[in-house]
Amino acid sequence: MTGKRLWIGVDIGGTAIKAGVVDEAGHIVEKREVPTATHEGPDRVLERLVELITQLKAVAETSGAVVGGVGVGVPGPDLDVERGVVIRAVNLGWKNVPLRDRLIAGLPGLPVSVNNDANLAALGEAWVGGGKGAQHLLLITVGTGVGGGVIIGGRVYPGADSLAGEIGHVTVRPEGGHRCNCGKTGCLETEASATAIIREAREAARSGRSPHLAGILARNGVLTARDVVEAAQAGDEVAQALFAYAGRVLGLALANAANLLNPERIVVGGGVSHAGELLFVPLQEAYRAHALPAVAKRPVVPAELGNDAGLIGAARLAMQQASPDA
Ligand SMILES: [Zn+2]
Repeated sequence: MTGKRLWIGVDIGGTAIKAGVVDEAGHIVEKREVPTATHEGPDRVLERLVELITQLKAVAETSGAVVGGVGVGVPGPDLDVERGVVIRAVNLGWKNVPLRDRLIAGLPGLPVSVNNDANLAALGEAWVGGGKGAQHLLLITVGTGVGGGVIIGGRVYPGADSLAGEIGHVTVRPEGGHRCNCGKTGCLETEASATAIIREAREAARSGRSPHLAGILARNGVLTARDVVEAAQAGDEVAQALFAYAGRVLGLALANAANLLNPERIVVGGGVSHAGELLFVPLQEAYRAHALPAVAKRPVVPAELGNDAGLIGAARLAMQQASPDA
């Protein structure tokens, strides 16, 4: 036995399941992606997940390595991390699914750990991504929604109910804000997500404030976040102002979180982060304006692992579970 150990990381999303074999340096050795096919129901999805992990384990073992465990990331909002039970996952349509027990039953001898997907993306970025080497890290992902994860001492900080890191639902507009999917109003997610930017862009197109956006909407019938980025890059002032506002509220929320947590690094990922300087310049300005000067010395950086962050973080979770000192 060579003793080389490998880890399997799984990221269950609403449309695709990504799974991979990861080595102890955080490199993906083998990767597979299959449709989640949530319409088939959790039983069938879990059967296929067991098959997928069994295949990856066999691939890993052909090199003489031993698979040390499996880590699985699932979307929230409600997850019992201790028992590995998905209490409610809106994107999957799952309620009270005993994910970990079902995987352990199908994968004899393999330890299985489960956590929230955003927390695992944070763990992945802290291990080998934009936050590499950081012991204390805050991740924010700005996409369709706004998610986050907190890493303290190299590990996921779960909070009392595995709900820590929900920075998308800190209030940035106490009065007059839009209603959020969570039921509150004025959440960061309703002000700075791709959904929010598109909502405001559509409004500017319809009201005539931006002839440029109105033209795109008339041509394509829809507006996407990419359209708004391109409009801003082409000099459309309304589109530029949308990113400036999103950047300002993100920077404000991150500064407030940083004053509380004093992270070594803040990592920003998700589709909207591809807007680059349009978003990062106002974000950095607001962050420095609202964070304590000593706190603001710690940098805000882009994420580096893209869609693999959750998978890599899941493998890292399995590794930490097996070796508490890792
Ligand atoms: Zn909310």
